[in-house]
Amino acid sequence: MDKKVAIVTGASRGIGQGIAYQLAKVGWQVAINDISSVEKQAGTLEMVRDAGSDGITIQGDITKAADREFLNQTVLDTYGRIDMLVNNAGIGPRVRMDMMEMSEESMREVLEVNIYGTFFLSQLTAKNMMKLIEAGTMQSGKIVNISSISAYTSSTSRAEYCISKAAVSMMTKLYADRLAEEGINVYEIRPGIIKTPLTEIVSDKYDKLIAEGVTPIKRWGYPEDIGLAIAAIASGYFPFSTGQVFNIDGGFHIQRL
Ligand code: NAP
Repeated sequence: MDKKVAIVTGASRGIGQGIAYQLAKVGWQVAINDISSVEKQAGTLEMVRDAGSDGITIQGDITKAADREFLNQTVLDTYGRIDMLVNNAGIGPRVRMDMMEMSEESMREVLEVNIYGTFFLSQLTAKNMMKLIEAGTMQSGKIVNISSISAYTSSTSRAEYCISKAAVSMMTKLYADRLAEEGINVYEIRPGIIKTPLTEIVSDKYDKLIAEGVTPIKRWGYPEDIGLAIAAIASGYFPFSTGQVFNIDGGFHIQRL
């Protein structure tokens, strides 16, 4: 009951895995969630345990109300608290396609995970955090949304993704505003170009862009870079900030001449 507890969605691999590992390193218990099977989450669980924390794996689709309920309930039954929710699960379009040809189905699929899933998991988890704070089990809560540089950068071959991430930014502001009085601070991490399975198909393109200087810091970002930022937030160094955006992007956001 002493250790703080985080839920990290989409944590079987990639950025979510990096976040789970860094949280475990700073002494947090981690509830690993992913739509994929618990067997596929085993690698992350092992990393969390190697870092000296307990961890649990919970299979669940954030777009399904019953799965969101099950995720929250399992964490409460196991640890009795939820100190932080990291909304990391997110998808891009199955096929990158010029926005003039994009299908309604692709738009719906991406928005369902990135917007609806994220919004309603936050709503449910925040309500549980409020009850825990009210009961004196914990003093405060945190929600961290993983958006993207795509929240403000146009990529016409994946408009649905850009729109969804812009919505995640507004969601951060809305929840930050609403939940401040409840003792819950809300933050947004905007990753840049990060080496994960999601970016594998465009790896050559990004290698070239990075070499040409698209980011002042000329390298790929890694899941660890995002994990370290979350670990800093988890460690409680930003108690007077909410709705805050952290650009973890090698300086991509700087407008340059
Ligand atoms: P990733 O390697 O594709 O990992 C995402 C994980 O989320 C996958 O394991 C995926 O499972 C899971 N997931 C998908 N839909 C889910 C759902 N409905 N419920 C629960 N889990 C679900 O992607 P990543 O690169 O680590 O990205 C993580 C987050 O960072 C995403 O929100 C992404 O938009 C954001 N981001 C990434 C980059 C980048 O350069 N990589 C940059 C900016 C922002 P399945 O594979 O089984 O579907």
